[in-house]
Amino acid sequence: MAKVGILGAMSSEIALLKERMSDRRETERAGRTFYEGKISGADVVLVCCGVGKVNSALTCQMLIDWFGVDTVINIGVAGSGGEAKVRDIVVSTDALYHDLHGITPEDDILADSYPFVSSFAADPKLVQLAAEACRKQGVQVYTGRIATGDQFVGSKAQKDDIVARTHPMAVEMEGGSIAHTCAINGVPFVIIRSISDNADDGAEMSFETFEVLAANDAAEIVTTMLQNL
Ligand code: SAH
Repeated sequence: MAKVGILGAMSSEIALLKERMSDRRETERAGRTFYEGKISGADVVLVCCGVGKVNSALTCQMLIDWFGVDTVINIGVAGSGGEAKVRDIVVSTDALYHDLHGITPEDDILADSYPFVSSFAADPKLVQLAAEACRKQGVQVYTGRIATGDQFVGSKAQKDDIVARTHPMAVEMEGGSIAHTCAINGVPFVIIRSISDNADDGAEMSFETFEVLAANDAAEIVTTMLQNL
């Protein structure tokens, strides 16, 4: 049976799933609390990894090495890359970094050196399961690329630049590094993000308003997915 690692960057993103866990055990390691138990009959390890690429990558590797997870789901909120509106959900087809490049922004350093790919593909079966769970929840779902970087995208100029270079459906701060970690370990993953803001000049205000609502949708969707894994 699958053992599913679930990461959220912020405590609000994992709080609802934590309440739904049965047989819950806690382990503290590297400043994180890992919750092991069951949701919808599936074995899960749930953790709040913190914001950003380093926090998320190292926590994902810990889930794989210490807790032996064989499937990874990343939930949370994100800014829209364009089409998706606030409260819609974006399910990753692939994820990449918008802030890791060589001398010029077009210089794709990850493609030219280890691990020799520009983006990391999500598991098609998990993508399909996530999209079906979104439809069951009655939310508008988009499948597409996630662009990740160590910055909150909160101005039109910043967003326009990222969109022109990487064509994402959503921008956030952890998905790419979780995808990277999973890819080099051969672990299937999917990223599921509720759109909390438009990643433009009004982003900070709409982020505060929709953070909780968006996190709630993501928790419902993961619960449905786990029933069908
Ligand atoms: N309220 C928090 C903000 C955290 S940063 C604080 O001030 O401490 C935003 C988080 O939400 C990250 O985990 C990121 O993945 C996601 N996110 C939502 N909207 C985003 C945006 N417009 N740009 C980048 N990340 C965004």
